[in-house]
Amino acid sequence: MAYDFDLFVIGAGSGGVRAARFAAGFGARVAVAESRYLGGTCVNVGCVPKKLLVYGAHYAEDLGQAQGYGWTIDGATFDWKTLIANKDREIQRLNGIYRSILLDSGVTLLQAHARLVDAHTVEVAGKHYSAEHILIATGGWPHVPEIPGCEHATTSNEAFYLEALPRRVLVVGGGYIAVEFASIFHGCGADTKLLYRGELFLRGFDGSLRDHLKDEMIKKGVDLQFNADIARIDRQADDSLLATLADGRTLEADCIFYATGRRPMLDNLGLAEVGIELDKRGYISVDDEYRASVPSILAIGDVIGRVQLTPVALAEGMAVARRLFKPEQYRKVDYTTIPTAVFSLPNMATVGLTEEQAREQGHKVRVYESRFRPMKLTMTDSLERSLMKLVVDAETDRVLGCHMAGPDAGEIMQGLAVALKAGATKQVFDETLGIHPTAAEEFVTMRTPAAI
Ligand code: FAD
Ligand code: NDP
Repeated sequence: MAYDFDLFVIGAGSGGVRAARFAAGFGARVAVAESRYLGGTCVNVGCVPKKLLVYGAHYAEDLGQAQGYGWTIDGATFDWKTLIANKDREIQRLNGIYRSILLDSGVTLLQAHARLVDAHTVEVAGKHYSAEHILIATGGWPHVPEIPGCEHATTSNEAFYLEALPRRVLVVGGGYIAVEFASIFHGCGADTKLLYRGELFLRGFDGSLRDHLKDEMIKKGVDLQFNADIARIDRQADDSLLATLADGRTLEADCIFYATGRRPMLDNLGLAEVGIELDKRGYISVDDEYRASVPSILAIGDVIGRVQLTPVALAEGMAVARRLFKPEQYRKVDYTTIPTAVFSLPNMATVGLTEEQAREQGHKVRVYESRFRPMKLTMTDSLERSLMKLVVDAETDRVLGCHMAGPDAGEIMQGLAVALKAGATKQVFDETLGIHPTAAEEFVTMRTPAAI
């Protein structure tokens, strides 16, 4: 049967764009439908605008610290509207680049909602398109727990467009988004409290790093409240919000920001009608080549709920394009040793196993830790300290995990991820010369184990 397209991609986000443009580059006839914004979550309401706001928030510290270097900066003020307007302009520029990337690759772009009709047909704006393969890359959406008053919650989707910086913010959650936005709101000048339901935020990261980041954020003035959960939210007569906690306490705020995880975006996608199965958590169930329960339909990225990071969605998109249209170049995505960073202030970044994971997996470990004051801060009043940590297999000498909290942790971790991927031992780290004077050189100069 002749199809309109070889590949129909639903969603022009990180994964969808990557799959579409590489498939087109390999000679396939490709269409993409996008209902909201080109570039998806990452470009519009995720990684990119988040990082721009983190940069904006960090200027508060930079300006204060500049005095130690002889600069007098009188009358510095901050304007949220300017930050948001400039961020919007940059995102618009990126939207244009994504459009060009797709069109220049020969992809047919349909800017509307898409819905599955059958195993080979998609409906967009009342028109049917047939395709040999259909790729669902529709991403995720913020999940807010259904408590009384949850309609008053702000999520990351709206936070990027707030007209004014709220004076008092309650951030709810203890994952990436909560910690990053607590840093953004606090750095920009809002009175910020972070409420997390557990003992310590950033579950799954290395314990030393979680403790360290907690201490550093408290030092900066973020009010961290653990074992705290909101039971209801009420709008008060003066338009402010009143949060009643499970323990009966009440807190007032002008914005209650929820970052309590994300759900797959499956709204009005026609999955049930076509017989696409979901896993127990509600994500699209796929095999290890991203085929859903209807084999002509594939799914990648946040919608399959494996690892919700842009580079992972990109790698999955690439794998699909190669397997279908350039099989000689096909390689499975390696989900081990994925580096990641939390763009909090200070940043935290990690690759490989945490100390806890290494021990649980039965490794006998040597742990190296270095805690120090970043050189740039030595002539300032800042009390911020950095932490670097290596987790090493005591029997094979292989470095199992690298962890850091401190300025530019994400930038530093990327290179270490290459070393770990290559299977570097501690001896290789030791034989690597440092770049002096940098913070990163600590990773190759730690000699005395902190714990065995
Ligand atoms: P998305 O990028 O979400 O794209 C899905 C697209 O599909 C969207 O454009 C959507 O409009 C479209 N769509 C949905 N349904 C339909 C439909 N029926 N028809 C047509 N189009 C549809 N990851 C990092 O690696 N680093 C970071 O720093 C980082 N920061 C983040 C910060 C925030 C606040 C958030 C929310 C996420 C962040 N992420 C980060 C995660 C990252 O954004 C996602 O993992 C990534 O965008 C997933 O890509 P995707 O292709 O699966 O989906
Ligand atoms: P996460 O899954 O990272 O964290 C969710 C947080 O909310 C956890 O602390 C969780 O607690 C808590 N939580 C969940 N349900 C409830 C509830 N009902 N009541 C109270 N608290 C609750 O989700 P995020 O929304 O922060 O981010 C989504 C994903 O996006 C991330 O996992 C990450 O993959 C990606 N992302 C990546 C970034 C980066 O690379 N820098 C930045 C931002 C997002 P508990 O731990 O107890 O379950």
